Amino acid sequence: MRRVLAVGAHPDDIELGCGATLLAHSAAGDAVTVLVVTGGENGPGDDAAVVGRRAEQEQAARTLGARLLWGGLRDCAVVPDAATVAVVERALRETGAEVVYVHAPDDSHQDHRAVAAATLSAARRLSRVLHYQSPSTLTFSPTVYVDVTAYLSGKLAALGAHASQVELSAMVEPDAVVASARHWGAQARIGYAEAFAPTRMVLDLVPTPRQPAVDVPEAHRLTPSVLLAAPPR
Ligand SMILES: [Zn+2]
Repeated sequence: MRRVLAVGAHPDDIELGCGATLLAHSAAGDAVTVLVVTGGENGPGDDAAVVGRRAEQEQAARTLGARLLWGGLRDCAVVPDAATVAVVERALRETGAEVVYVHAPDDSHQDHRAVAAATLSAARRLSRVLHYQSPSTLTFSPTVYVDVTAYLSGKLAALGAHASQVELSAMVEPDAVVASARHWGAQARIGYAEAFAPTRMVLDLVPTPRQPAVDVPEAHRLTPSVLLAAPPR
């Protein structure tokens, strides 16, 4: 079992960036926690929508099979200082996470940049730190992909829990989510994918069933004398 922490600045950031991957982690029996650093007070809608955003995030976390932690910082005012690093460090301590997902560092939203930078500091001793894409991400060159073909509808359901943002924000479009997953899937030569740009990524190599040895005909076997022979001139 892996212990996984996904960090996002606002309600719905994590679902958009890596929701299907978190569903795959949950299905694999991993312990998944999401840390939402602010309450999204500056998101779309009136005061009632802002209050409801908390319940929406709780519902979305349940859909992902994830535990939810709140960072308690102020929307649009997150800075990558010691206090923000401490929020992520506390979540890492509480969860014992060994895999961390977070915003990509190059992003036009100041909170996303600050959360990415603070998480890189907090996770400096971890071997698996992967950045996800947001609608406001600027440069993003992923090299790690997760096949989420079986989890895309679950991702859309988790996003659907964020009704106050999905219905009111031009940044969250379900058809763009599907198109993006298919684009990354084509890049990765699979069906639908979520894409990640890692800061560090150590592969898990688990034992696989033993393959029968390939029978090489005697005439084709390389013997030490063949290997040591001088190359033909
Ligand atoms: Zn955000």
